[in-house]
Amino acid sequence: MSNQRTELEKLGEFGLIDHLTKDFVNKNNSTEFGIGDDAAVISISEEEAKLISTDMLIEGVHFNLMYMPLKHLGYKAVAVNLSDICAMNGTPEQITVSIAVSNRFPVEALEELYEGIKTACSIYNVDLIGGDTTSSLSGLSISITAIGSAKKKDITYRSGSKEGDLLVTTGDLGAAYMGLQILEREKAVYNENPNIQPDLDGHDYIIERQLKPEARIDILKYLKELDVKPSSMIDISDGLASEIMHLCKSSKVGCHVYDEKIPIDAKTSMTALEFNMDPSTCALNGGEDYELLFTVPQSEFEKIKGNPHMSIIGHMTNENDGIYFIDKGGSAIELKAQGWSHFE
Ligand code: ADP
Ligand code: MG
Repeated sequence: MSNQRTELEKLGEFGLIDHLTKDFVNKNNSTEFGIGDDAAVISISEEEAKLISTDMLIEGVHFNLMYMPLKHLGYKAVAVNLSDICAMNGTPEQITVSIAVSNRFPVEALEELYEGIKTACSIYNVDLIGGDTTSSLSGLSISITAIGSAKKKDITYRSGSKEGDLLVTTGDLGAAYMGLQILEREKAVYNENPNIQPDLDGHDYIIERQLKPEARIDILKYLKELDVKPSSMIDISDGLASEIMHLCKSSKVGCHVYDEKIPIDAKTSMTALEFNMDPSTCALNGGEDYELLFTVPQSEFEKIKGNPHMSIIGHMTNENDGIYFIDKGGSAIELKAQGWSHFE
């Protein structure tokens, strides 16, 4: 240890992960793929692999119990982990759940949390197989590890996309972020005057998208039925822009994504306008949609076209061409890690 002090913000989340892990070399043949995708891939036979992914949720950072019911929190914590297994085109099968909890919480509160975890286990057909329980000085932390299975030939990495591939997103984007804005607004109103009832009317869809996201395990089934294997795939946890950057960086390609093609629900757009925000910005930078973003060769166009669950939003280009968001006026705006900056 030297006396040098580097601030975390200088590296950012992904820079920090790279920095801390760059000197680790995998020693075991069974480690088929380690750090750098939605889940690690552990070889168990010539043809089969296990997928493993971990996510941690911290009170005050990832959730606020003022508007997040514990039951929903339990459900969401499981769903977001399973989403990473889905992003590898694998079937989630088990989870472990670790909690750190302060004495602020009675047993009944944790029962609620586990009620949500149980519902998710039942809906997604996964087994709770272990975990850890410890005390915390303040607040609640939940760390979940999801384990899944896949045939090696079916696994979709972030790195498989080729120039010319079509970029496809499932569902619609930006809703979870706008749901959060509504919940935050009503929390502020409540803090000002606890006698005022929260006004959540007409915002059910976006609030549900925030409080109860789903892992798109159904999409894997649809893709199989269409006989389409994505060339690359990632789940949208941090916003479309960030995930496109991950696919491009891993696959060494560029991208053109078209504003007019991005699926945004009318309720998301209306709420964004209410907040004086651009709906596309919510989709690009909002996050927590937990939809799947994938690429397919152009030859699959006919199979994907018009599918109600999937929208073709762009195509991959040469790495040297860069990563661009084409706005409704046709101007190309370069996408940057943190959102976007105007292209001069
Ligand atoms: P996701 O958003 O899909 O959950 P992350 O962005 O959290 O993925 O992580 C990217 C990659 O870095 C993953 O392979 C993850 O396992 C790995 N990773 C994240 N944090 C650490 C850490 N502290 N030490 C080692 N690997 C990490
Ligand atoms: Mg992910």
